Amino acid sequence: MPLPEPIIALTAALSKLPGVGPRSAERIALHLVQSESAQVRHLAETMTAARERIRFCEICGSLTEKSPCEICDDSRRDVSLVCVVEKAVDILSIEKSGTFRGKFHVLGGKISPLDGVEPDDLRIGELEKRLGNEPIHEVIIALGTDVEGDATSNYLAKRLGRPGLKVSRIGFGLPAGSGLEFADELTLNRALEGRREMTP
Ligand SMILES: [Zn+2]
Repeated sequence: MPLPEPIIALTAALSKLPGVGPRSAERIALHLVQSESAQVRHLAETMTAARERIRFCEICGSLTEKSPCEICDDSRRDVSLVCVVEKAVDILSIEKSGTFRGKFHVLGGKISPLDGVEPDDLRIGELEKRLGNEPIHEVIIALGTDVEGDATSNYLAKRLGRPGLKVSRIGFGLPAGSGLEFADELTLNRALEGRREMTP
């Protein structure tokens, strides 16, 4: 006997989530249809509410409930420093390390022609606009140390290079070929402090 259609539909929807394969999707679906009705409703409502309340910050591109986000809006932070990260969650990693007091800019990916990601697909134009509008003296590139991270960093150093602006890159001690999410707080701190100026 095949599974009832609603379970098949739920499994199909769940298997579209990142990291959820067909087997896990079916297991979760079977779990949900046997759970307390109120519990499942709560889960569905939490998902909808989160989706409706979270947006991208219009300045830095982070995930936020209000735009500009708390960091962009915080006058105690150093406006002369902007740390460029690949993903919004990378901000959390750097914030946890606790020493960075500047602002952020989320690129939204890395240049990767093989995957069809070109510079125009990233928030580089937005960053250039900020360089014109904000008193930024240093752009700290905090991308992963894989091939795309290297290529994107070099591209940024060339494109952003202008008089009066330092472009640097973190790197010291970061695990080779990986992203920020794999680095612990101490490593990230050292990587930030040991950042090196890039020459365009
Ligand atoms: Zn922001």
